[in-house]
Amino acid sequence: MPIMKIPVNVHKRLPPSWVQCFQKFKGCHAGQKLDGLAKLKQYFRYFGYINISSINFTDNFDDDLELALKTYQLNFNLNTTGELDEPTLKHIVRPRCGVADIINGSSSMNSGKSSSKSSFHLHTVSHYSFFPYAPRWPANKRELTYAFSPENQLSDSVKVVFSRAFDRWSVVIPLNFTETSSFYSADIRIAFFSGDHGDGEPFDGALGTLAHAFSPPNGRFHLDNDENWMIDTEITPSQSAFDLESVAVHEIGHLLGLGHSSIEEAIMYPSISPGMRKVALAGDDIQGIQVLYGSNPNYNGSTASSTQERETSGSGDLVLGPLWGLTLLSAIGLISLVL
Ligand SMILES: [Zn+2]
Ligand SMILES: [Zn+2]
Repeated sequence: MPIMKIPVNVHKRLPPSWVQCFQKFKGCHAGQKLDGLAKLKQYFRYFGYINISSINFTDNFDDDLELALKTYQLNFNLNTTGELDEPTLKHIVRPRCGVADIINGSSSMNSGKSSSKSSFHLHTVSHYSFFPYAPRWPANKRELTYAFSPENQLSDSVKVVFSRAFDRWSVVIPLNFTETSSFYSADIRIAFFSGDHGDGEPFDGALGTLAHAFSPPNGRFHLDNDENWMIDTEITPSQSAFDLESVAVHEIGHLLGLGHSSIEEAIMYPSISPGMRKVALAGDDIQGIQVLYGSNPNYNGSTASSTQERETSGSGDLVLGPLWGLTLLSAIGLISLVL
């Protein structure tokens, strides 16, 4: 169904099977064996935490799984227990971007920052990351075009959401983005798909992975058509649909060369909850993207935003504003419902 028909009445969909399956692992730790742990290992391999090509994972909680879990906990500012404790499981089932946190074994996010957990004082360590070898659009290409898949027949009100999302980035770097009607020759090609769509990264239905985008200069930007997307959450807040602009700003970060960040307030943080609107670049995002492209000459902002000044190195230290608290609570509520 084309997105412009969604969501007048947001309907509840069943979560993907892995969400239902993972909650039974609560308290599971190394040395145990539980039906379905192989699926969890596939999840961790998908997002880069297990770097093994095996297609036949066992249901044993082995060393590989424990290491993956600890790295995941480090990346998401959770206590690195190496066990499937409740906060970790709640995090694993949070909807997120389909791009891996660790690509080809290269560490990124917190797990690649050796000092990030060692001190407890306020600091300004950057947590942005790049894809391996830091690909970016070439220096002679400062005017990028984007186009929407003709098959999606998106309305102008949806297209303008993407335009606003591109503007968030062009304000801080010397790149311009222009819509073109020529889908196959555009630098950036935006499409909504359901399930398997031919690039080896199938979508998984409602919740789970929401979208993914490829590193420069690939330009493919795909969104899961089975999500409940909202385009006007600033006017009509929703607790059960995903804010399209928030996800678009994140995926454009990938299209430009940014990987994921461990800073929860950063646009490049991998997870987002239904109803959450997060469209403003954080200092971490701005610092990262300006390393790749330099600053827009007209940009006067400081890259040391309040976000980074508040960020501390311990786990769970981020200061959440009232809105974040609400959305986090509602996300937890939703997860409890679906579990
Ligand atoms: Zn992402
Ligand atoms: Zn895709």
